[in-house]
Amino acid sequence: MQRRKFLCYAGASTALAGGLVACKDENASQAPSSVVNRTWDWKMVTTWPKYFPGLGTGAEFLAEQINVMTGGRIHVTVYGAGELVPAFEIFDAVSNGSAQMGHGSAYYWKGKYPALQFFSTTPFGMTAMEMNSWLYHGGGMQLWQEAYDTFGLVPAASGNTGVQMAGWFNKEVNSLEDLKGLKMRIPGLAGEVLKRAGGTPVNLPGGELFTSLQSGAIDAAEWVGPYNDLAFGFHEIAQYYYYPGWHEPGTALECFINKAAFEELPEDLQGIVVNACRVANQDMLAEYVARNNDALETLVNEHNVELRALPTEVLNKLAQFSEEVIEELASSDPLARKIYDSYRSFLTKSRAWLNISERAFLNLSPAGKTTT
Ligand code: CA
Repeated sequence: MQRRKFLCYAGASTALAGGLVACKDENASQAPSSVVNRTWDWKMVTTWPKYFPGLGTGAEFLAEQINVMTGGRIHVTVYGAGELVPAFEIFDAVSNGSAQMGHGSAYYWKGKYPALQFFSTTPFGMTAMEMNSWLYHGGGMQLWQEAYDTFGLVPAASGNTGVQMAGWFNKEVNSLEDLKGLKMRIPGLAGEVLKRAGGTPVNLPGGELFTSLQSGAIDAAEWVGPYNDLAFGFHEIAQYYYYPGWHEPGTALECFINKAAFEELPEDLQGIVVNACRVANQDMLAEYVARNNDALETLVNEHNVELRALPTEVLNKLAQFSEEVIEELASSDPLARKIYDSYRSFLTKSRAWLNISERAFLNLSPAGKTTT
């Protein structure tokens, strides 16, 4: 008996938004040979320095998955920040079709539409586990698609850093007073929170951070976590390394695709692009968890960086400001309200479960020795 073969694919953007994959009988329909034989040369523009560990290499990994799994029918070439367009112009470049794909994080586009920040991270918000659960199984992807429809883009989660570090400082943070007058690179909603605490937030692409901190143009900077921060060499110009990353508890990286370019693809290639993003999404988080502690040990033990916890009193105040800032954003328009209501109600439920699972477990005696 001949086994029937089934092709698995994702439908157009609604299925993509749900991350759903459907299967159909191979014999039911055949794509015309003009489509099967066609190839697509796609450009992926990114906000990252070329091959930057975790982020730039995450974009390369995604492109490689697509190139290999399509057998070369799609060939994606990755461009680092500034190679084709500057870091913060990639959103427009993909929206207007001069590149087919972009790799960044949605909070960089708050100037386009402030509620896009919910699809990166929010201060004191979801962890990576919660973010992926909301996106794939809590309606988050559908809302993300709705928000990107205006720009002719199809979004996909394509990585996550996990909880970040609070950042690099040259003076201690002992009270809220120490944040007053502080000029700090800190993107997204957290920048607004810092402003409320009396500081001045600056949004800069990664490639400009070191020189800005070194020259004194900014007083403090957050980037990601030990693996990435070691690579940039912040320990050479800043003494104190603060945790936890209250402002970015599980930052989602994104791939966005020009919608017309995506819809031009046959269904099998759409399915590969969608699922390559899912693979890249999982792989990046795994890489950060695997690399961060080794990098932290290098920073502390070899470069004598002083690891500090932000005082609880400071964190509590920042949490209060965060609630205010996020509530104001949610009140700004109906779609922002819809996104935040979904985010908030999902977070309430996921946190109730994680409190008695992950949190309860992690509060037990830790298995590993910590650097602190
Ligand atoms: Ca960051």
